[in-house]
Amino acid sequence: MARERLITKLWTTVALCAVLTMSCVPDTTPDAGSLDAVYANPSEQVELLSLGQDQTLGLLLDGILSANDQAALLVAFREYASPRRMPAGTELVFHYLRDDQWLRSLDVVVNADETVRLTRNDLGWHSELVRIPIYVDTLLASGKIETVLWSAVVNNEYLGDVPFEDRNSLIDELDQVFQWQVDFSRQIRVGDTYRFAFEREVRPDGSMRSGRLLSAELVNSGTPYHAIWFDPNKDGEGSYFDLEGNSVRRAFLLKPLAYRRISSRYSPSRLHPILRTWRAHRGVDYAADAGAEIMATSDGVVTHRAWKGSFGNTVEIQHPNGFVTRYAHLSSFRSEVQLGSRVRQSEIIGYVGMTGQATGNHLHYEMMKRNGEHMDPLAVDLPAGDPVPSDDQVQWGEELITRVDLLESIPGAGPVIGLGSLQSQGDEQGGAQ
Ligand SMILES: [Zn+2]
Repeated sequence: MARERLITKLWTTVALCAVLTMSCVPDTTPDAGSLDAVYANPSEQVELLSLGQDQTLGLLLDGILSANDQAALLVAFREYASPRRMPAGTELVFHYLRDDQWLRSLDVVVNADETVRLTRNDLGWHSELVRIPIYVDTLLASGKIETVLWSAVVNNEYLGDVPFEDRNSLIDELDQVFQWQVDFSRQIRVGDTYRFAFEREVRPDGSMRSGRLLSAELVNSGTPYHAIWFDPNKDGEGSYFDLEGNSVRRAFLLKPLAYRRISSRYSPSRLHPILRTWRAHRGVDYAADAGAEIMATSDGVVTHRAWKGSFGNTVEIQHPNGFVTRYAHLSSFRSEVQLGSRVRQSEIIGYVGMTGQATGNHLHYEMMKRNGEHMDPLAVDLPAGDPVPSDDQVQWGEELITRVDLLESIPGAGPVIGLGSLQSQGDEQGGAQ
């Protein structure tokens, strides 16, 4: 159906822009006053240079400035950055007076958001920090999985204005948020749908400075999952909840690797159908690049950290709720994690390799009960995070509506699944009490 084919929509709402931007941009535009138009060559000549390997700012200035001038410039520069810690590739823009090759100012790009501007006057060199203006907008996108999630998001033509790296970050963000509900590498199916509202800070060149998923819906094999950002104290320490206000966090991550580090090189016939693979093999294999970071899927204590026959380098973790997880074929262990170490969920414990009996770089992951009985990690669903505190219920209710509205405002995306029944359920409960 035509409408089905128009599944992917995106547009950008520019909002809140000026507030953040203007307040942090120093007034760097010189006031030229009112002048009559005259014709003249540009008074300035601009040269762009970048620092070479092992080259310091001082080294680069040799031959451009006298020793005294150079020392004065470096003193001014040190007010905002260390001239010795400039990485290779740091961009410098030299502004010369056109005729006499007299360096009048120098811009040093110290990071993606800040430039140190050095200007020369009668008294010597003066420095100021110029912040690149940013604006804030909200990306709204929806789509349907035609092949794999990564292609669906990265090739979403309506995300054309979003730089490639930032589209990758979007997927990481979705993976982070849904990591307890859906294993993106094993559970996503053709026909699954997603939509999300993503707030970001954007630089003038279109690159993203920072971003946060505000709300998202993923319908996986017909089951809807939601994640709504809620930060009652507005201190960035918030968390994600489902439509009922339950934390999306679980005692176990569904997978011990970040989605993007899991390679698609593995032959699909090896992984599907999942249940058969599971039974035959009593573990899950994640093909990944050598050295990819492996995370503990839950809090626990390291009970094995050594070679283990055909498993090669292996870590085993005992968890308080009676489960044991095993991570095999590691290239190396993380040195900070030793036998007997306490580890937290998502803590890095080692790195992907192919030690022991392995034909390629991959992680073999197992989950067992204490008696050794194997379990499918996807089948374990133990809540971990606390729900929205009762003191914050009113605020939560208001923000939930706002964030769900964002998702519902995407044309063709329809109402958020589950919210309608949730509201009527709430009314019924209210009436009964
Ligand atoms: Zn295996």
